[in-house]
Amino acid sequence: MSEIEIHYDVATGGDLDAHYARGESRPVTVVGNPVLHEPCADVTEFGDELGRLVSDLFVSMRTARGVGLAANQVGVPLRVFVYLCPESYERAGDELWHAGHVVNPVVEVSGDETGAHPEGCLSVPGARAVVPRAARVTVRGFDLAGHPVAIPGRDLLARCFQHETDHLNGRLYLDHLTAEGRRAALAEMGEPAYPVVPNPVADGAIRP
Ligand SMILES: [Zn+2]
Repeated sequence: MSEIEIHYDVATGGDLDAHYARGESRPVTVVGNPVLHEPCADVTEFGDELGRLVSDLFVSMRTARGVGLAANQVGVPLRVFVYLCPESYERAGDELWHAGHVVNPVVEVSGDETGAHPEGCLSVPGARAVVPRAARVTVRGFDLAGHPVAIPGRDLLARCFQHETDHLNGRLYLDHLTAEGRRAALAEMGEPAYPVVPNPVADGAIRP
């Protein structure tokens, strides 16, 4: 990953090295954990704590080798996500990757082009399913300092913005699938290659 060329869409709080130096890796919540299935609260305090959360998200995303991570995926029910993601579905190492964070994000779709590509989620380890998404969007929100940001993205990056904003609205990509598609995706779940938060056990059932 150190070879890729990175464009910082939002660099408030420093570049990735600054976040990696400051942050700590946190385990990832998985489907069935209530924090993933309820809308997160708007961020209202733009202080040091938010900065630490964003750094922790970048480090946790690196640990889990994801291209995006929402705060409720580390158990924090606040509307903020980070990403390190290219636009091409090839995820080629020789293309430009985009990095940033967005606080209180809202996705605006541009045009009516859609793409149907396989999508996965660190909170549904091992599973993938095809989800149609808008191919071009702009995500609007705020940076760590509370300044407005508007970031356009297409293809995989657009999908990432939609996927992460869905997370903060309490939705997983599974919620876009048919009942059958959802069952198939859940059946594909396997052992994650990164630390996860054990789900609260009420009656032993995982309730996606
Ligand atoms: Zn996800």
